[in-house]
Amino acid sequence: MQQYFADKPLKTGEEYIFTKEQAHHARDVLRMNHERIRLVYDGKGYFADAYPRGREFAAMVESEDPNDNELSVSVTLCAALIRREKMEFVLQKAAELGVSRIVPFESSRCVVREKKEKSLRLKERWTAILREASEQCKRSRIPELTDITDFDHLKEYMGDANLAAYENAYGTGRMLSECLGGSSITVVIGPEGGFSKEEVEKLAAAGFEPVSLGSRILRAETASVYACSVIAEWAEVRL
Ligand code: SAM
Repeated sequence: MQQYFADKPLKTGEEYIFTKEQAHHARDVLRMNHERIRLVYDGKGYFADAYPRGREFAAMVESEDPNDNELSVSVTLCAALIRREKMEFVLQKAAELGVSRIVPFESSRCVVREKKEKSLRLKERWTAILREASEQCKRSRIPELTDITDFDHLKEYMGDANLAAYENAYGTGRMLSECLGGSSITVVIGPEGGFSKEEVEKLAAAGFEPVSLGSRILRAETASVYACSVIAEWAEVRL
């Protein structure tokens, strides 16, 4: 079932007119005719019957969807900048795994530096990836994407539980899954080159507990997916 994020409020029994992009996607990409779809507006999902309407496309909003397909906790993923295609993979998987907010950041050992003048275009591209991934997995919200920030501002994004993935925490610190609680969780994942010792100390001093994701050294993109998966599973089964 195809989903679209509506650009105006939805009401059962009323017709929603697709945006130009949505009409193009429905008609020319999906070759849609009469089809049941899911529409979302402001975090609420509806089932609707879509149909071509002259050169446009429309849908009659039928009923509310009781499931919003969102996690019961708010998850913030602070992800250090990594190579472009891997970063985009992380964004897509974070959206599928229910993350509420993504904070890309630069730290001392990032091999990638995004130029300020390019960041607007990059943010548009990354937001499109988040929207497409959220539509594909039938979420009712698109993760918020902040501007690229720097390491020293991560404390501005803390929640009830604040965890920094650190490979040297294996055997000395707790596992991520032992540290989950509250209604908002922030997890920090470092870059390909990892965190410097000073950065780990700064994170701990700010209140981020260094946690292990196991004995193996994971690629940064694997670590992000691993951490978001553990949190999503915990959120789904917790009482
Ligand atoms: N310093 C690592 C090394 O020795 O090769 C490289 C960093 S790793 C490629 C990238 C990031 O993934 C780390 O900064 C950390 O946040 C996370 N990470 C990878 N494996 C981890 C593990 N076993 N436990 C906790 N965090 C891990």
